[in-house]
Amino acid sequence: MYLYNTLTKKVEEFIPNEEGKVKIYTCGPTVYGYAHIGNIRNYIGHDILDKTLRYLGYDVKRAMNITDVGHLTSDSDSGMDKMEVARKREKKSSMEIAKFYTDAFFKDFELANCKIPEIISSATENIDMYIKMIEKLIKDGYAYESGGNVYFDISKLDNYYALTNNKEDELVVGAREGVEEDSNKRNQADFALWFTVSKFENHELQWDSPWGRGYPGWHIECSGISIKYLGEYLDIHGGAVDNAFPHHTNEIAQSEAYLGHKWCNYWFHNEYLIDETGKMAKSKGATLRVTTLVEQGYDPLAFRFMCLNSHYRKQLLFTYDALKQSQSTLNKLRRRISSIDGEGVLEEDKFNYYKDKFIKELSNDLNTSNALTVLYDLLKDDDINGYTKIELINDFDKVFDVELIKDEESVDSELQSYIEDAIERRKKAKENKDYDEADAIREELLSKGIKLIDTREGTSYEII
Ligand code: AMP
Ligand code: ZN
Repeated sequence: MYLYNTLTKKVEEFIPNEEGKVKIYTCGPTVYGYAHIGNIRNYIGHDILDKTLRYLGYDVKRAMNITDVGHLTSDSDSGMDKMEVARKREKKSSMEIAKFYTDAFFKDFELANCKIPEIISSATENIDMYIKMIEKLIKDGYAYESGGNVYFDISKLDNYYALTNNKEDELVVGAREGVEEDSNKRNQADFALWFTVSKFENHELQWDSPWGRGYPGWHIECSGISIKYLGEYLDIHGGAVDNAFPHHTNEIAQSEAYLGHKWCNYWFHNEYLIDETGKMAKSKGATLRVTTLVEQGYDPLAFRFMCLNSHYRKQLLFTYDALKQSQSTLNKLRRRISSIDGEGVLEEDKFNYYKDKFIKELSNDLNTSNALTVLYDLLKDDDINGYTKIELINDFDKVFDVELIKDEESVDSELQSYIEDAIERRKKAKENKDYDEADAIREELLSKGIKLIDTREGTSYEII
């Protein structure tokens, strides 16, 4: 298996710390709002990594956090805690907000057929671990208390910027948008491990600590959870590209200073899902969820399929046209597969030939679109019997996970319930005299090849 490693800036052979076992940490969502499809693209990338390693026979253990405290609006040490922003916006408690958006997140996550990692832990569940780490970092001279907060002193490290290796980051720290100069810091690039809450501050979640009542910084949360549940040596840690700096850079700094040795060998970063405005971002108000796509009548796996058709290290432009195209290709693929006569006995040589090709593509830094080409080549091959084909398709779908084998009946019944639902929505819109909406629903169906026919008895349809 070869993977691009952000730490070395190269595609490298993946060699785990312990033979046959892989420990992966995935940065989880900040649950102050709905996860948009951009967030989910990142988790689909992690899911493919996870499932590929399992497919290759590794024993995978993966952990993911839920950020329910400490992630400030600047992604650095200034601005408001995002959970506080949501608490004020929705007039609920932080825990209510966290519960609501965590549940919504996992719903979308599962709709996209992402496997839930073995370990899920919330930032608020591990405060003792962060305090233990921060105490040691202070004792060993890596961290200092200043103005009530505790900061990590980056000048104590030789190679703080190892992950990004980008001197520009160094220059822009402290001058990044929304990041204010902090007179408490020895170096402007130092980062907060613990925030102490002043009595004038209205921060709901706070805990006792040796430095006063307060709450942990965002970065220490992932180091703490990873070390607590996966141990001192991690194989792969990932997120999207924006996590590399400052989040992962800070995680490496504090984890390695705490542990006294190298912590994680491979850093895995997914590129963005973008729209016409650029990166899809919660902070820009992006609200397009996987659930929204389902409500609009799309199969959530059409979105997953769209992600598989591009490489995880390339930006992916989301448009409805592209989604429709992806939906129609996936439907055609399923129909074609369901028409295969699965008779025969296993042709082992041919099975292994295609399986090897499939593995070769995935092992090349998760080249999912080439792996799909192997599937198309298989479907075109007349020299292989139906039984072997179906066995291979089932096998490939352990990684793709787009339900390639779906009998036509269930495709049809899904389509039928979508059409019925759309007819109902249109009827309601008409009753409310919202004719624009009613027309939009008619157009929506038409764009999918479904023509509505209004009669005195009601509305029927025709597939065109
Ligand atoms: P957040 O909930 O904002 O902490 O984000 C959850 C994860 O989604 C993080 O790893 C982000 O880096 C990632 N992410 C945010 N926006 C995008 C996007 N447009 N495309 C891909 N990943 C993203
Ligand atoms: Zn993280």
